[in-house]
Amino acid sequence: MELRELAIKKLEERGVKLTDIADITHELQGRYLEGITCDECLDMVNQVLDKREVIHTILTGIAIDEVAEKELIEKEICDLIRADNGLYGMDEILALGITNLFGSIALTNFGYVDKNKPGIIGKVDREGKEHIRCHTFLDDIIGAIAASAAARLAHNKEDIKEAL
Ligand code: MG
Repeated sequence: MELRELAIKKLEERGVKLTDIADITHELQGRYLEGITCDECLDMVNQVLDKREVIHTILTGIAIDEVAEKELIEKEICDLIRADNGLYGMDEILALGITNLFGSIALTNFGYVDKNKPGIIGKVDREGKEHIRCHTFLDDIIGAIAASAAARLAHNKEDIKEAL
């Protein structure tokens, strides 16, 4: 299976559809770009997934969540990851590998969704906090993809305006 396909499959297995991520992009950018549609946001999410580094980050983050969930690593590290403590920080650092590819708007949007946890981010965060599953890395990965898609959208719209 192609890695991109595998990343999308893994996201779905963890309860996340690309349309869920696009909804967050829409929420982020809707107030700045009048008339922006969910389909355009989904298109941007797909473009973010065109980058190999993004696919690698998705697969790596979910793999860490899964080994922690199945307790396949040392208990101390496992407990640290599963606790999803705000001071752990490695989950945000990994996700920054995505936003770094899309510039400062991606970074500031990521900070915003990390704090406010809209839509699917809030859902996976709750599942993780209630120890139903381990989503310590997943919530940040989703946030980073949504934030990066919003940044791409902002830049694209500006390019179109300039071209006119
Ligand atoms: Mg997290």
